[in-house]
Amino acid sequence: MPSATHGSVGGERVSALALPNAMSVDVEDYFHVSGFSEVIDRDDWERLPRRVEANCDRILQLFDDYGVRATFFVLGWVAERHPGLVRRIVDGGHELASHGCAHMRVDRQTPRAFLSDAANSKKLLEDVSGAIVKGFRAPSFSIGKTNLWAFEIIAEAGYRYSSSINPIRHDHYGLPDAPRFPFYPTSDNRLVEIPITTAAIFGRRLPCGGGGFFRLMPYAAFARALQRVHRYDREPAIFYFHPWEIDAGQPRIKKAPWAKRARHYVNISRMESKLRRLLADFAWDRLDRIFGIE
Ligand SMILES: [Zn+2]
Repeated sequence: MPSATHGSVGGERVSALALPNAMSVDVEDYFHVSGFSEVIDRDDWERLPRRVEANCDRILQLFDDYGVRATFFVLGWVAERHPGLVRRIVDGGHELASHGCAHMRVDRQTPRAFLSDAANSKKLLEDVSGAIVKGFRAPSFSIGKTNLWAFEIIAEAGYRYSSSINPIRHDHYGLPDAPRFPFYPTSDNRLVEIPITTAAIFGRRLPCGGGGFFRLMPYAAFARALQRVHRYDREPAIFYFHPWEIDAGQPRIKKAPWAKRARHYVNISRMESKLRRLLADFAWDRLDRIFGIE
């Protein structure tokens, strides 16, 4: 197994990156993504070929290859159709968490509808797996300054933590003024928000928590940004990706606008080898263990 504490980044020797980072997967299929929501009707989801289970099994194998345990934020929609996958995630020693019921953006829901989304997805995942679900990640990081009420609801639904803020500027999401590291977003401190990682460079925030940015950036530049978080901030990083990001064979959504397709498909064929380097060069673990959430 490759060492998790020593590796080579861009030709330089990386010294003792012993600080473990949090690895996470948002378990959804290629047709659930917000970028395609205008061209794929929810009513059509049931008819589209599903790829999520096979892709997740590849990810479980990948994590096994490097001895990595991670947090899987699973959509209720996926858990209902693939209960065996949910159980394999838990049996593999990974943390099971919620990505909501059906990938509905939080900022498009009323507080009442969001409470039932958050509570129902938690109950469904727990019923399927027998595990306690402590974490929630909002679809498309859709908690921003217009719907900060959502944190009270996540706590009310029984979660211990949220990882729903991407503290950057982005056209679909982001809360650029949010803290870069874990904070208590509710008045009674009963919930912790664990934001996706950014590196602070020359007073600006550079996304370095995964997703499309990871596929777009050269590996060495990404790894250096992560090292910067360790060296200057002395904080673990939170990385995320999706099962469809390692699936070069997924059906192409040709009717989607060019820019959305470009963002979705960029460098997908190189994602697995890039991920392997990331898993080898840094130490990784589940969010609940990294942040001591029992
Ligand atoms: Zn998602």
